[in-house]
Amino acid sequence: MLSLLLAAAVALPAPADLPTVPRLIQTAQPVYCAGAAGRRFALTFDDGPSPYTQQLVRVLRREGGRATFFDVGNRVGIWPAGARASNRVGELGNHTWSHANLAGLSPLAAWRELSSTQREIGHAVGAVPRLFRPPYAEARHVDDLLGRELGLLDVRWSVDGRDARLGANPAATIRAVVKGLRPGAIVLLHDLHPWTPAVARAVLRSAHRKGLRAVTVSELLAGQPPAARQLGSEGVTRCPVP
Ligand SMILES: [Zn+2]
Repeated sequence: MLSLLLAAAVALPAPADLPTVPRLIQTAQPVYCAGAAGRRFALTFDDGPSPYTQQLVRVLRREGGRATFFDVGNRVGIWPAGARASNRVGELGNHTWSHANLAGLSPLAAWRELSSTQREIGHAVGAVPRLFRPPYAEARHVDDLLGRELGLLDVRWSVDGRDARLGANPAATIRAVVKGLRPGAIVLLHDLHPWTPAVARAVLRSAHRKGLRAVTVSELLAGQPPAARQLGSEGVTRCPVP
């Protein structure tokens, strides 16, 4: 038995040898942005899928951009075609089952929010998320530890499009995002509005003019790993200022 355990321990790579996302998952700390050495950034769309997802995916395809979609578990069964389409133009992340504030839940309830969404997305698209984003940016360290148990990295953002606020409109959203476009940025937008696809088109064209390429969060972190000082709850202050 001991020799079996030892053999298993030898087979496991040391954390530093793991590829970027699995290594970051082991830290159980939120990530706000990637390193700045490169020409890539990440667009993320929360709260889908929605009636607008497929149109958003068509825009991404046409403009040559990839993205990460933090889907709400109980919406995946309502718009499964949107979930599948977005998975083909990027990756899906876990945004809890019911858009819950994890920090207000017991650890068991938080676990259920995350694990049921893992199952639902895995069932819908055939791939289980490796990233999660806590709704309202509210998560305790225990939630990041639960995430680690489920193989999930807590991904926040460094640029807020402010499109989920009261009175949000396309022009102001485009301005807020374009102002923050720089290598390593993680941009927060929402798959909630009929005008989200138009915002995505304008942002991608602006990024193209700046020589920046939109990739998924996993691709961004792998290509431009964040420095250790960019991790954790203070990480956002270590991201390039928008
Ligand atoms: Zn949300």
